[in-house]
Amino acid sequence: MRMDDTICALSTPQGMGAIAMIRISGSDTFPILKKTFKAFSPRHNPSEAKPYSLVFGKMVDGETIVDEVMVGIFKGPHSYTGEDVAEISCHGSVYIQEQIIRLLLKNGCRMADPGEYTMRAFTAGKMDLSQAEAVADLIESESKAAHQVAMQQMRGGFSEEIKGLRTELINFASLIELELDFGEEDVEFADRTQLSELLLRIKTVISRLLESFDTGNVIKNGVPVAIVGAPNAGKSTLLNALLNEEKAIVTDVAGTTRDAIEDEISLGGVKFRFIDTAGIRETEDLVESIGIKKTFEKIEQSRIVMYLFNAQSLQDNVELIRNEIAQLQEKTKGKTLLVLANKMDLIEDTTLLEKLGDVENLIPISALQKRGLKELETRLTSEINLGALNSNQTIVTNARHFSALQQSLEDILRVEQGMENNISGDFLAMDIREALKHLGSIIGEVETDRDILGNIFGKFCIGK
Ligand code: GDP
Repeated sequence: MRMDDTICALSTPQGMGAIAMIRISGSDTFPILKKTFKAFSPRHNPSEAKPYSLVFGKMVDGETIVDEVMVGIFKGPHSYTGEDVAEISCHGSVYIQEQIIRLLLKNGCRMADPGEYTMRAFTAGKMDLSQAEAVADLIESESKAAHQVAMQQMRGGFSEEIKGLRTELINFASLIELELDFGEEDVEFADRTQLSELLLRIKTVISRLLESFDTGNVIKNGVPVAIVGAPNAGKSTLLNALLNEEKAIVTDVAGTTRDAIEDEISLGGVKFRFIDTAGIRETEDLVESIGIKKTFEKIEQSRIVMYLFNAQSLQDNVELIRNEIAQLQEKTKGKTLLVLANKMDLIEDTTLLEKLGDVENLIPISALQKRGLKELETRLTSEINLGALNSNQTIVTNARHFSALQQSLEDILRVEQGMENNISGDFLAMDIREALKHLGSIIGEVETDRDILGNIFGKFCIGK
């Protein structure tokens, strides 16, 4: 990827909108605008306009006026990318968007690669790597929790924590290395007790960060919840009721490659992914038994399982229902199983208690009459521990960061072991350098592999 040319791309979504925004960045931004943009007031030529101002004018291709636009002016290094930047807000017609981009390309711009603006910002030192990654997370955030975590990371909360650890480790390493310089004289600059304390502190922080990944993953990807229930138990009615309750549907993914319907609903600021399954009732039918196998697979992938049954059928089928609950209890060890007695508008509460009073996590509801839904919501959200989020602690959401932290913990454990075994300072220093490298890779403070950068920024939208 060349970094010295001038790039352009549509930064708003593809398709028609009221307004679209096309962004240019690079050293030729203003020369290119000079050829393609005419300000309505001659005093407002973009190259002479004040930074952070908006200039009103027209995009022109020779004699042809393409559109009347507003251009936002940013002059390097005080811009997102650190370069000269212009943001052209045009009318949102797809035709206009295409014509303006064509015009810019013709006059010396190159089409930006995905994430290239942010990559340039990273290269210019405007943000570190974990902050750049947070920009993508922020754009993708679909719930309050995901937004909060991405925002904290983008604003440098996580980076500060990593930098703090690195500073302590660097002090440690330099003391050890100083000892090496005096190798013959057998001196100890680094007080071993203090070093052990330092290692313990670093271990504690890294372990806390590693543990937070479980929550981070849930926040970023949503909590998978499998709904198991016979046809007509009321699964769709329940999902719709939950949706209406929150009015916060995120997406409705009818999978082409997936075999189950997933509904994403945000409850208490967390995204839950409800996966509708076919139920587990024993059957002779081949097609249905394939469905049952899939149900068990979905249960496997879930964190919470909701077993939904028609409470009215308790009259005749209590044994069948008990049997299914027992099977599910067996299959959901280590997960949470919620037993939802639906259609409670049709039977007495006392009947339910008589028949299933001893069942754990039994929640009476009526999906149709929207009864018991608040209790259900509370149960669902209480399964997810957001303590760390509320106390503003760093939560790791990124698998790359998780793996780097794991590696640095291993390095630290080696240092600790080395100290216990009194190994020589140069070996200690080597392991400390490794830990520094792994921690540094999170924020991109050590040289980062081109492939890794490509992988990180390639996942961005074009135009960011
Ligand atoms: P699914 O096959 O499990 O998705 O079941 P549906 O949601 O399609 O519901 C099957 C039928 O049960 C529909 O006619 C619903 O109106 C009805 N139903 C769902 N929940 C309730 C409830 O709480 N009370 C009553 N009385 N009927 C319900």
